[in-house]
Amino acid sequence: MRLVFLGPPGAGKGTQAAKVANHLGVPRISTGDILRRHVADGTELGRKAKGHMEAGGLVPDDLVIEMTRLRLRQPDAKGGFILDGFPRTIAQAEALAKLTPLDAVVNLFLEPEELIKRSTGRRVCPSCEAVYHIASNPPKKGGVCDRCQSALTTRPDDREPVIRKRIETYERQTAPLIKYYRDRGLLREVYASGLIEEIFLRVREVLK
Ligand code: AMP
Repeated sequence: MRLVFLGPPGAGKGTQAAKVANHLGVPRISTGDILRRHVADGTELGRKAKGHMEAGGLVPDDLVIEMTRLRLRQPDAKGGFILDGFPRTIAQAEALAKLTPLDAVVNLFLEPEELIKRSTGRRVCPSCEAVYHIASNPPKKGGVCDRCQSALTTRPDDREPVIRKRIETYERQTAPLIKYYRDRGLLREVYASGLIEEIFLRVREVLK
């Protein structure tokens, strides 16, 4: 299956996209993760992306589109994929339509107050990119990744002022994609409140 996961920051896109990818045996392609790796490695793309990411804005379309085009050409994406965090603008959606057809677009939606709580409680593993939440999905041992034992960190853009900016960016630039995909008959809406497993069941239901 070729899927896109859409939703505001903090809706649980990454968590659900990873579960569905695992369930379907397809790669989860997170443009945020790829960009964070570029920033950590100090590549040219990373240097261009860093400021935008730290300010809660979007990395320019041409850079992200080219990065995603190259990723979708990798052999593991031939049999399907889940795009997590791409597209984020109409221009990106139009570029994506030229690269590949899609089977569905899952839109996770949640009340704005919940989005802030989810993001401020998020902890990430800098080595294997596993994601936790201090209240709803804590690691077995405090501050340590279950999978690879690395020390967990907080994303620099998960500070409250930046989260608010990211939600604003989402409303302005990404939310128009809901109508874009609804008009094309691809949109599947999922209410993203509740336990991870409950939301996963809802996602599977809309993908049947
Ligand atoms: P995420 O991990 O999906 O929340 O992405 C983290 C940050 O990376 C975003 O706030 C953006 O600055 C940048 N980013 C990720 N995906 C995209 C995209 N498709 N277009 C532009 N910027 C992106």
